[in-house]
Amino acid sequence: MESQSQSRAVRGVVSTLQLSSSCRHAVKKELKLSQAQPAVAKWGLNGRTDPETFKSCVPLVTHKDLESYIHRIADGDISPILTGKPITTISLSSGTTQGKPKFVPFNEELVSSTMQIYRTSFAFRNREFPIVNGMALQFIYGSKQFKTKGGLAAGTATTNVYRSSQFKNTMKSIQSQCCSPDEVIFGPDFHQSLYCHLLCGLIYYDEVQTVSSTFAHSIVHSFRTLERVWEELCNDIRAGVLSSRVTVPSIRAAMSKLLKPNPELADLIYKKISGLSNWYGIIPELFPNAKYIYGIMTGSMEPYLKKLRHYAGGLPLLSADYGSSEGWIGANVNPMLPPEQATFAVLPDIGYFEFIPLQDWNASSILCNESDPVGLTDVKVGEEYEIIITNFAGLYRYRLGDVVKVIGFHNSTPELQFICRRNLLLTINIDKNTEKDLQLAVEEASKLLLEEKIEVVDFTSYVDFSTDPGHYVIFWELSGEASEEVLNKSCDCLDQSFVDAGYVGSRKTKAIGALELRVVERGTFQKILDHFLVLGAAVSQFKTPRCVGPSNTKVLQILCDNVAKSYFSNAFAT
Ligand code: AMP
Repeated sequence: MESQSQSRAVRGVVSTLQLSSSCRHAVKKELKLSQAQPAVAKWGLNGRTDPETFKSCVPLVTHKDLESYIHRIADGDISPILTGKPITTISLSSGTTQGKPKFVPFNEELVSSTMQIYRTSFAFRNREFPIVNGMALQFIYGSKQFKTKGGLAAGTATTNVYRSSQFKNTMKSIQSQCCSPDEVIFGPDFHQSLYCHLLCGLIYYDEVQTVSSTFAHSIVHSFRTLERVWEELCNDIRAGVLSSRVTVPSIRAAMSKLLKPNPELADLIYKKISGLSNWYGIIPELFPNAKYIYGIMTGSMEPYLKKLRHYAGGLPLLSADYGSSEGWIGANVNPMLPPEQATFAVLPDIGYFEFIPLQDWNASSILCNESDPVGLTDVKVGEEYEIIITNFAGLYRYRLGDVVKVIGFHNSTPELQFICRRNLLLTINIDKNTEKDLQLAVEEASKLLLEEKIEVVDFTSYVDFSTDPGHYVIFWELSGEASEEVLNKSCDCLDQSFVDAGYVGSRKTKAIGALELRVVERGTFQKILDHFLVLGAAVSQFKTPRCVGPSNTKVLQILCDNVAKSYFSNAFAT
């Protein structure tokens, strides 16, 4: 049985399809020109708007299937290709999985559903941690916006949202106004914007009620930066003069309105920071009225939790909602759960959702031998699924590529736990290791570094097929110099920590070669971030790719160019 709101959602999106087919004349004319068929008018819904017809007529698609249609839109074709109403904005996905950002249609409906999800999860958070007249230290950044060949505005989905008028109103109403001016958020240089976000936070230190970013990575990155620049920030506050490192005129002008000489505040910050032990609890120390830290902390963000907890001291970490450039999916309605257990209640009316059951799935089954998708209310607790989205911006039965597990129901809507990206897998033959398996292996091996007080700053992996047999390569950036002995042991431990039977069996029979640990120079992951920023990604949306695929050549090159040392495991030597 489809829930009522899901039926409403399908009627909503199908009426978009109707519009497409009702414009036959324009479509035919356009067909003659391009010899291409419009993406959805061809499926013959003939006015029917029920979910069964929708499912039987419209096939499942991936981004690749829609790429040519999206590019026609981006190139200025205003015929009803995917939506009746022309698309005027394009979102860029972070691109960390494939190596380059994907183009995704964006419209006002997606802005509205973003606001809906923001308000929904805020209502649940606010029950537990009420906020009054709050200011938010938000590490958010607009990416570069550019015009496509056809003149459409293009930027990351988060940038498109931050630029919308609805965003400011919503932030005001949920007491989450950013303490930094727009010039900082939309500044052209990420490093300068980050410095000024920190400065604004310190200026409003006693008004800050939440510290947030889209993804936890960005919060950790911000406080790692604070560790380096805090004295300079204090100097700026003392003298009321912005550091010469900030050169963008619009940012300097906006900051000069906020920055006044304040030696008392500079002394206070100096004292607070000097009293800390290894930066533990820096966030509540600097922002005594902060109620919680907020951002996406699940999936590829989990590895940053340890460091975030260190900076947070006792301050609660509340994990944010689940969505993508293609649209939002679920809100965190149980904010008190630790981030590792966060679940997301699907908002049934922000799209039409289907779920492909995944029993014993693996990378090679991605396009074959799968069960039919089931509806939102037909999913089973404990089972894993791949999500299919139909949204209001021209995506129909679109495979998002994420794997989720149903944990329970909130009223009648499922609560999902994010498991992993489906295609992010380390696999050579019968082995399959997910992003999560990699994370657990790294967590286990990094315990060995503790005795030398060293931590893994960031990590990623890839499969090296240039050797015979192929082998897993794990890249680590470390906070200091670890001894050879510890690194050799860590390498063995990584190899042993992949417990998947296919991997262990293949290692024993030498069908997979010894795991290789490559330690990269400090700053390598910053270079990867900078590379994505040049491509048009935004820090707000950045996710370190945990497995570098063969198409991600530039990232692989950055990693390989910066290898300082490498080790091979002896774990299965005998
Ligand atoms: P993007 O394509 O840059 O919009 O990134 C969207 C992807 O980020 C999703 O498909 C997920 O893989 C991941 N993601 C988004 N929200 C969450 C979340 N709350 N937990 C885990 N992963 C998430």
